[in-house]
Amino acid sequence: MNRFEDKVVVITGGASGLGRATALEVAKEGGKLVLVDLDKEGLEESQDEIKKIAPQTKVELAEANVAKEEDVSRYIQFTMDTFGRIDGFFNNAGIEGKQNLTEDYGIEEFQRVLDINLNGVFYGMKHVLKVMKEQGYGSIVNTASVGGIRGVGNQSGYAASKHGVVGLTRNSAVEYGQYGVSIKAIAPGAIMTNMVEESLKQMGGDDWEAAGKEFISVNPMKRFGKPEEVAYLATFLLSNQANFINGTVIAIDGGQSFQ
Ligand code: NAD
Repeated sequence: MNRFEDKVVVITGGASGLGRATALEVAKEGGKLVLVDLDKEGLEESQDEIKKIAPQTKVELAEANVAKEEDVSRYIQFTMDTFGRIDGFFNNAGIEGKQNLTEDYGIEEFQRVLDINLNGVFYGMKHVLKVMKEQGYGSIVNTASVGGIRGVGNQSGYAASKHGVVGLTRNSAVEYGQYGVSIKAIAPGAIMTNMVEESLKQMGGDDWEAAGKEFISVNPMKRFGKPEEVAYLATFLLSNQANFINGTVIAIDGGQSFQ
């Protein structure tokens, strides 16, 4: 398939995990890419991996903090100056934050997680939607989480931010469908990326791999998801095959959200 030939896709959190895996899938299918992240080294590694599997790919890197609206405005302008359009936007950068019971959850930590996971997604949508409305076409995929559709515990900031992402998705889907723009969210369960590794280290310290086994034993499929499994879903949703899917939140979690 070549679903991204002549298409431009912007991916936040493109230096790692789900963002990188999705960038690789888009590149395999001929897409042009702008990868956005705070992590310059990680961005360069993503670019090298893309060049290995799809050397022809036009891939630009934008070092930016999604929690700062001026950075968001800058990477969108950069994309328009470079490629002249945005067909797909994977609004995906995020952090988990520290784990704690609600009564012990620090207000600064709460604000930090919201700034990145919720404000960052909002700024991205706000600026990309202007472009897509003008084009009369586009697909936005926001990364929510299982923690955005059900209670997980010990994650006040994360839960509030990801439920917020679901709300933003549904609200804007109703507004922008009439312009040919569709907006959806994915809700991953436990997928083995740097974020999950860090989280397991918080739980299990040096013995984090054992903590991981115990953690995942309650999942109906008894395993962590792989970044590429999320990337297959995200690329479908970013492509025009998914244009009529609008406002929908799709869980990809081995069945965790039905437990
Ligand atoms: P990851 O840590 O591998 O990747 C996240 C990327 O986001 C990193 O490259 C990081 O540098 C970047 N980032 C963080 N803050 C940023 C900021 N302020 N500005 C720009 N970039 C920033 O983790 P991942 O698992 O690939 O996470 C991607 C998304 O998926 C996140 O929104 C996360 O909440 C969500 N998610 C992940 C899982 C999972 O199990 N891995 C589950 C549910 C949801």
